[in-house]
Amino acid sequence: MIVLGIGSSIEPREEYLRRAIDLLSKNKEITVKKISKVYKTLAWGGVAQNYFLNICVSITFSGEADTLLDIIQDIENHLGRVRDKHWGDRTIDIDILFFNNSTINNDRLIVPHPYILQRNFVLAPLIDVCGDISFEGRKLSDWLSDISDSIEICGNVL
Ligand code: ATP
Ligand code: CA
Ligand code: CA
Repeated sequence: MIVLGIGSSIEPREEYLRRAIDLLSKNKEITVKKISKVYKTLAWGGVAQNYFLNICVSITFSGEADTLLDIIQDIENHLGRVRDKHWGDRTIDIDILFFNNSTINNDRLIVPHPYILQRNFVLAPLIDVCGDISFEGRKLSDWLSDISDSIEICGNVL
């Protein structure tokens, strides 16, 4: 299973999420399988100012992981992502959380994404699309219950 985490902290946030899903679906190599509910959280990491909306989507993709990174970075650029401060506000951010069962660690990609366990806005939508799977020796819901940051479910992407 390939899972992407998608977030936006600049208005119109939901529209950016929708357009990202739309652009992913339009790629011939990609099939979007499941889309999580939308989760609202305060900015993580102390750089961004605004609140975030986040989702996860599971996809199938026939190519290599670095080709998928090229595709998602094209989509980010297309949706007006400005690379300013690391962890700053952004119209759209698309991260590769899982790429099948691959472990990747090179200059461009670390997969599974390194901060999955620390982020409720990743863990909660991940459970929607993957179920409560075991990861790093515990269920996702157990990792999630360790995080006290507030999170609000905002329903589905329309
Ligand atoms: P974080 O990765 O902590 O969520 P971020 O999403 O804000 O931070 P970006 O500025 O979007 O970080 O990306 C910086 C670089 O991270 C990208 O240029 C990309 O090469 C690299 N990267 C490493 N692993 C991944 C991954 N699993 N998914 C997406 N990008 C990754
Ligand atoms: Ca990110
Ligand atoms: Ca990113």
